[in-house]
Amino acid sequence: MPRNGLLIHYEWCTGCHACEVACKQEHNFSGGMCGVRVDEVVTVGPDKVHVDFIPLVTRFCDLCAERVKGGETTACVKHCQAMCLTYGPVTDLAKTMEKTPRSLIFAPR
Ligand code: SF4
Ligand code: SF4
Repeated sequence: MPRNGLLIHYEWCTGCHACEVACKQEHNFSGGMCGVRVDEVVTVGPDKVHVDFIPLVTRFCDLCAERVKGGETTACVKHCQAMCLTYGPVTDLAKTMEKTPRSLIFAPR
């Protein structure tokens, strides 16, 4: 069975937090629990300030096992309008990653 994961192409992340909301609703997470957290990274360069939004997957992410079993994609992938997130076999994600700068792969299990 292939090992699945998430490819996070944060180049286009707007920091809208829709992935967090979708994850919380899907799992009925309460309080600070969530499968993904969007961090804001501010870097001061010589002539301007750069702001990057980077979605980071947490230990509570189960890759939406129940949804995926039912034939759907993960909640975060479905609700990211900027299409920063891709779910699938890690080997396929790695091939895509070769063509996508500013990206990372999360594979929990
Ligand atoms: S794959 Fe599912 S559990 Fe993991 S961060 Fe996305 S919505 Fe949350
Ligand atoms: S990954 Fe997508 S849904 Fe999540 S904050 Fe970035 S743009 Fe919004």
